[in-house]
Amino acid sequence: MIDFSIVRKKYRVYIPSEMMNQKYTGPVYGFYHEATGVFNITGSMSTNGESVIGEISQAKPENSSDLLCGYWEDGKLLFVYQDEPYEIAEYTLEKNLFSRNTGILETDWMMDKCAFMLGCGSVGSLVALELARAGVGTFVLIDNDIVEYHNLCRHQCGIHDVGSFKVDAMKKRILDINPHANVVTCTKIVEEVPKEIYDKYAGKNTIFIGCADNREADVYGNRISMMYGSAYLSAGFWERAYAGEIFYHLPEKSMPCYKCALGSGESLSERTAQSRRIYTTEENLENVNFAPGIAVDIDFVTIIAAKLAIDILNRFNEQYIPKLLPSLKQFTLVCNTNDTRIGGEMAEIFSYPLQVTRNLKVEFQDGECPPCKCL
Ligand SMILES: [Zn+2]
Repeated sequence: MIDFSIVRKKYRVYIPSEMMNQKYTGPVYGFYHEATGVFNITGSMSTNGESVIGEISQAKPENSSDLLCGYWEDGKLLFVYQDEPYEIAEYTLEKNLFSRNTGILETDWMMDKCAFMLGCGSVGSLVALELARAGVGTFVLIDNDIVEYHNLCRHQCGIHDVGSFKVDAMKKRILDINPHANVVTCTKIVEEVPKEIYDKYAGKNTIFIGCADNREADVYGNRISMMYGSAYLSAGFWERAYAGEIFYHLPEKSMPCYKCALGSGESLSERTAQSRRIYTTEENLENVNFAPGIAVDIDFVTIIAAKLAIDILNRFNEQYIPKLLPSLKQFTLVCNTNDTRIGGEMAEIFSYPLQVTRNLKVEFQDGECPPCKCL
């Protein structure tokens, strides 16, 4: 028998350099992991649900405490917990957080970028977290929906989020990756977002990401993005997510907007329309009579959209090497399976699964754009 209980605990305290430098005294917030014996101090206050895990004093306290006990002695910080000394592991959030992205995606390229998420369902939640991992500094989350149990099999949130607004749950998840991100939430539908929010956050460094999965919202979102000179990107799905489509619009290029390129979508009947959309309201859910696709299929298409979003955000950055943008035209179809038992006859347009089309070109529907008349 192997006795795993003899694995030695680390007896370690992670502490931000700022607290060390300023010779901090007072309560410390963060997380304690009893199994490993590690305290993770995140700061001097609770910003994302942390609780008090200890206290740092100017001198060794006389009474013992149930919490982590820190004290300064001859200019040195010492930690004790349950009579055991704890070693200190200093960290600098800015340096450590994105250190593994270095060389590919520099943090200072991404900090002034903004992702305007029009919808925080399964697509929006995944794109938002990927962009948080990429270091995007500002997020505006738009969604009026509440996390429900039936969302969990496709959403980035979990059981502890059920009952909260999707935007609030996502804000927590984003801050859990990057506590320095600026996350703005709005529990309204896209069409009801106050103009002040667009005025403040839309602009050249912003990408609008349409994840509401209905074409009307895409037409509206792209129109707003053009008004503010922002890029637009949307991801949508065909039935059972056997295929998905990705569309983008760059304001500085002569390219048709969503409406000019795809209209309201009647001509592209395969994508689920509003009445049969994947992300639906509670009342409409009863009427949805098709299997809306499982997470691995939705996520495959969504990840491609997220990669494209990173390319688009860096399109003016000469040091950045784009991965997809030079190859993917405005409209891309992504196939999950070409099996007709899942996709129906239309699935035959794909010759093999996991195909990313790159030869579809969308045109202005009449010759009068640009500039796009939709403004
Ligand atoms: Zn247009």
